[in-house]
Amino acid sequence: MLHITPIPSRKDNYIWMVSSTDGNQCIIVDPGESRQVMDTLSLHQLTLSAILVTHHHYDHTDGIDALLEHYDVPVYGPAHDNINNLTQPLEQDDNINIKALNLDFEVLFIPGHTLGHIAYYCKQGFVFTGDTLFTGSCGRLFEGTAQQMYDSLSKLAALPDETLIYCGHEYTQGSLAFAQHIEPDNRALLARIQETDRLRKHGIPTVPASLSLEKQTNPFLRCNQQAVIKAAEAFSGKKLTEPWEVFASIRRQKDGF
Ligand SMILES: [Zn+2]
Repeated sequence: MLHITPIPSRKDNYIWMVSSTDGNQCIIVDPGESRQVMDTLSLHQLTLSAILVTHHHYDHTDGIDALLEHYDVPVYGPAHDNINNLTQPLEQDDNINIKALNLDFEVLFIPGHTLGHIAYYCKQGFVFTGDTLFTGSCGRLFEGTAQQMYDSLSKLAALPDETLIYCGHEYTQGSLAFAQHIEPDNRALLARIQETDRLRKHGIPTVPASLSLEKQTNPFLRCNQQAVIKAAEAFSGKKLTEPWEVFASIRRQKDGF
């Protein structure tokens, strides 16, 4: 059986650790720091088998070099982001096999937040989305265009509904406040806000969330819904005909929210 454990880092980052009940191996996704990772590995008596990276930002990569001083492991990451010490550059449709955990990932190329950003999808029902699809929202457009990001989110939305979304930050509460601003009458959203508030009050992570819940409540996956189109048109002051234009408008609106 697999365990996916969050290692909290910095203000609101999650470094993800995947391990299995039988064996002492694990992989780490997006090590933005090394100290917490080393501590967690020693606490659970685990050995590192591989590092996976979604994009080049420092809060997802700064721990790589220090981990490599202790573990001689492959570092998987996006071919089109510039990352030090990457040993396995990845592109769309690449497959990776982590032998130690008997685990396979498909690579999805999802540019927008950065130009090289990738996701790691496992058919066992989970995906590491980095800073592209967040629980309740999506990442900022630091390098790519709105159309690129819209296409990337559509690619993730095409995964099976029960897929669990593991993203790089604990942003859900703030994200849902914006979602409510866009869709005040969305009932599933109201229920999710209550549940999220309850979890956060007790310091419990709100990640992962199912893709199905995201489709019901995350406005960035709902650019074809009347309420979202209406909010986007009100913000941009004109009629919007393409879903990616709706996306661009609400993304701009969230930048200033
Ligand atoms: Zn980032």
